[in-house]
Formats: sequence, structure tokens, C-alpha cells
Amino acid sequence: MTALVDRHLFGPGPCNPYPEAMVALGAPLLGHLDPEFLSIMDSACDGLRAVFGTENRRTLPLSATGSAGMEAAFVNLVEPGDVVVVAINGLFGQRMAEIARRHGGEVITVEHDWGTPVDPERVAAAHPNPKIIAAVHAETSTGVRSDLSALAAVKGDALLIADTVTSIAGIELRCDDWGVDVAYAGTQKCLGVPPGLAPFTINDRAFARRNEHPSSWYLDLGLLGGYVGEASHTSQRTYHHTAPTGMVASLEAALRRILDEGLENVWARHAEAGALLQDRLQEMGLELFAEEGSRLPELTTVKVPEGVDSAAVRRYLLERHNVEIGAGAGAFASTVWRIGLMGHNARPDRALLVTAALQDALDHVRG
Ligand SMILES: *Cc1c(COP(=O)(O)O)cnc(C)c1O
Repeated sequence: MTALVDRHLFGPGPCNPYPEAMVALGAPLLGHLDPEFLSIMDSACDGLRAVFGTENRRTLPLSATGSAGMEAAFVNLVEPGDVVVVAINGLFGQRMAEIARRHGGEVITVEHDWGTPVDPERVAAAHPNPKIIAAVHAETSTGVRSDLSALAAVKGDALLIADTVTSIAGIELRCDDWGVDVAYAGTQKCLGVPPGLAPFTINDRAFARRNEHPSSWYLDLGLLGGYVGEASHTSQRTYHHTAPTGMVASLEAALRRILDEGLENVWARHAEAGALLQDRLQEMGLELFAEEGSRLPELTTVKVPEGVDSAAVRRYLLERHNVEIGAGAGAFASTVWRIGLMGHNARPDRALLVTAALQDALDHVRG
């Protein structure tokens, strides 16, 4: 394909990036040890601390996608035989359990119906003294928010690993206040940056209890400290791998944009856009999938109406309106749609655009 296409990305990710992120991506490239770049990296790490709600000095963007953040969390913490309790209420919880198993964890899963939030009491009851409890804050597969602070309140001595890929910079997230020990994210959801980095944070308590001989070299946090100078703006950087300088600059620009707007204002903008979208969808006679009270504003799941061909609607949206929405995940692949209003797309005009296009597509397929 040679022609440039200009899509409206309302899927579960990537969303349309903030313009600032794309401008930074198009700027002349810096070398990975250029002092100009090192200050951009420092600024990106500071920005990440703000959006994670943490003061952890070990906060950095890993050079790979969100899934690598998940892998890094488990490979650095799990030692063979460690008990890992994983709350599962969707696809990404399943993936956490699979990764923990591959790193030798004694995994206990606590299964929830898809579309419902994690129940902290059931998670706490799963084992008296696990080393790790893991859960997804914002389940992108179902559009559900779970309460991390309630989970942290029952964690006991366990370390709490939170997947914050779809929550970061979209809904309230306060890792330190809530008691989250390790969190990872991705750039292409509410951070409004193209895919490719995994923001990551780990507190001193978790770092002290890590596996000091992780089976991954690339994701070994003991080695990665030098990569970002352990967040000290003056300390020596050691070569670990070539930082993806363009992507880090893009992330840094988006973080500055978010913090200039004000993080709480950004959360409010997501809340408002998501509420408008969900109201409109229901006015159109559609039924939402996620349980009321736990619905994410940034990722809405809606049931495909009876007799409507899900794929035909998505194809029409793409071809006629350049609008991408997501199919459902797992068992709900053809019965649910997922509509993201993340980052730059978390605006009322975007909510109205996607609902108008969807109404047209429904009219079209129903003839
Ligand atoms: C998107 C996503 C991931 C995986 O991120 P990739 O960048 O696709 O590797 C993990 N967890 C959640 C909740 C996600 O939404």
C-alpha cells in the first residue's frame, strides 16, 4: 500500500496519539548518549513517576511493548516455587498467570466472570501467605475497572503487581498511596503515544525481594539501573542497550502535554468522554457489557445486537468512515465490540463521531 490512510483509532489500542507525541517522533533523531537525550530520558522518568502516582526511583520506560512490562514484573520477582495468586477477570489476567507459570511460579488463579471486577475478599482467601498477588487495574478485554487499593489492603506480606496498561493517564492511579509494589504500562493506550515502550515502576520493598538471578538478561532490573542512571540526573549511564530515542522523546512529549493539562483534568476528560459515549450507545438501544459501577470510561464494551454481523459492521466502519473499533476478546470475539476513547481521543467530539459512524453502520447492515 502506498497511499497514506488517516484512521480514527477507537479500538482497544493503539489510539490516536497526542499531536505532541507525533511531532516529537518526527524531530531529528538524537543519539542515545547525547546529553540532550539523557535529559529527555530524565524528564520522561519524572513524568512517569507522576502518572504512576509514585516516588519510586526505579521508574523507567522499558524498550518493548506493554507485554514486556508484564514479563519484566514476573521474571524479576518470581523464583521457582513462589506462590503467585493471580486475579483473572479477562484476557490480560490470563496472560499474567501464564507468564508467572513460565517463570516457575506456583500459580493460584482466582477466576471471575468476564465483565465483573476483581473481588479482593476472594483473592485474599485464595492462599494464606503468597509471595505475589497480581491483578489488572483496567481490563481492556472487558472494559472493567478493579479496585487496586482494596486489593492492596488485603495483600498482607505479599507484593502487589498491577497491570496499569489501560489505566495510566486515563483514570485515577496512585501506586504509592494505594500500596501497589510493582506496576507496568504501555504507551499506546491513554498515554497517547505510539506502541513500543513499557513504562515500569518498582518500589524498594519489591526490589529487595526480587529474584537476583532472573532468567532474562534484557529485562533484568538489576542491570537496567545503569540504563537510566537509577534516576539520578547526575550519575553515570552504562551501556545496556540502545535506547529507542525517538520513542522516548515521543513519550516525554506526551507526558509533558498530560502534565501541562493537569493529570486530574486528564482523568476528568476521560470520564466525561466515556460517559457521553456510554449514554449515547444506550440511547441507540445498545446494551453495555461491563457491569454497571465498574465501567471504564476509556474502554467501553458494548454487546453486538442480535442478528447483526459484528465483522460486517467493523469492516463498513473502516471502509466508509476510516473508523476502527475493536472486536470482543476471547469467547466474546463476535458478540461484543470494544470502543476506546483514550488520550487524545478522550473528547466529546470523538465520542459523537464514533457513535454517529456506528449508527450509520448499523443502519447499513440492517438494510
Ligand atoms: C494492551 C495491554 C497489554 C499488552 O500491551 P502490548 O503493548 O500489546 O504488549 C497488557 N495488559 C493490558 C491490560 C492491555 O490493555
